[in-house]
Amino acid sequence: MDAVLVINADLGPLHRVTVQHAVRMLCRRVAEIHEAEPDRVIGVFPMPRVVRLVRYVVTRWRFSAGPAWSRAGVLRRDDRCCAYCGGPASTIDHILPRSRGGRNTWRNTTAACYGCNQRKGDRTPAEAGMPLRREPVNPGWAALAGR
Ligand SMILES: [Zn+2]
Repeated sequence: MDAVLVINADLGPLHRVTVQHAVRMLCRRVAEIHEAEPDRVIGVFPMPRVVRLVRYVVTRWRFSAGPAWSRAGVLRRDDRCCAYCGGPASTIDHILPRSRGGRNTWRNTTAACYGCNQRKGDRTPAEAGMPLRREPVNPGWAALAGR
């Protein structure tokens, strides 16, 4: 999905727009790139993932459901620590494996190192004898902001 998150000047998340819309905002200098996709460009700009408004916009509403699930978000939430061995994590493990209907949700995914991910394979933590060191939670906006 190529939607770009727009955040307020105070870093509060506002809404999502298409990449084209985000680029128009960058061209008009109403927004700046806050987070970009590595190694991807669109025209003269790095491919934006998050753009930040230059001027603060007063809003009467905020997202209440919390941030949408993403792989990068899971790694940030878990401080890139493996849920099984505590080592540095670079992959996402589905606690109930995808092959068995596990979904991409905050509660069903956790950061894991490559080794543990391979070892666990298509099993649940209980089946694999690999207890989770922490419960995966739904992060609030604050947990993902500023990291
Ligand atoms: Zn590990």
